[in-house]
Amino acid sequence: MDRIVVKTAGKVQYELIRKTNRRRIALRVTDDARVVVSAPSRTPRTTIDRFVTDHVDWIERKLAAVGSLPKTLPEHTYTDGDRFLVFGEEKILKVQRGGVATATCKLVEDTLVVHARSGAKGTAIGKAISLWYVELGNQVYGELVKKWLGRIGYAGANRPVVVSMASYPKRMGSCSQKGELRFAVRSLMLPLPLVDYLALHEVAHLVHFNHGASFKQLLESCMPDWKLRQHEMSSLRIRTAHI
Ligand SMILES: [Zn+2]
Repeated sequence: MDRIVVKTAGKVQYELIRKTNRRRIALRVTDDARVVVSAPSRTPRTTIDRFVTDHVDWIERKLAAVGSLPKTLPEHTYTDGDRFLVFGEEKILKVQRGGVATATCKLVEDTLVVHARSGAKGTAIGKAISLWYVELGNQVYGELVKKWLGRIGYAGANRPVVVSMASYPKRMGSCSQKGELRFAVRSLMLPLPLVDYLALHEVAHLVHFNHGASFKQLLESCMPDWKLRQHEMSSLRIRTAHI
């Protein structure tokens, strides 16, 4: 096994690992933003370069995601300067005190503004923020689910599809046989293309209640790069946390 650094025509710098027991080329972006390619020892460099340039969009998206998420989310303080992730981007908390009975939260550009009564504690501020996330989730997933239902031409089972948010500790979403789609509040911390994939994934379960070949075929026809998004989602999953 040798390990070298090269540059491709597509300006992507990557580390190449040659492996005698490998059959196919594999590509990954590490958490510290390195592009690593594993390839069978006999695959020509031109083939490997082409493979990398063919996946340049994915590499760029992945690098952006890795760069935009902090290594570990700091413990929330619920005071000015606290950071929250919204669709892969950091928003800074600003607490304005006085003049209201119950804390409310809104997003103003890159600032999450919480209006709270003067003596409000962190828990009250956290509650306002988590309500804000739930509202955002209902709205965003509501729209995305509607879009995918239309795309796949879902006729439904005599009852409307219901979308709601849940505080799942591990899973990102669920779909019940009654047509209830639930999404983890923490999934809203993921970049939007992954949120879109998650919406499609759960909508596709309304048609195929498993992860079988037909289910995958449906994903493929709606979103050709779904596998990359799913892979990206599992690698970012650990970085999302409760609010
Ligand atoms: Zn599933």
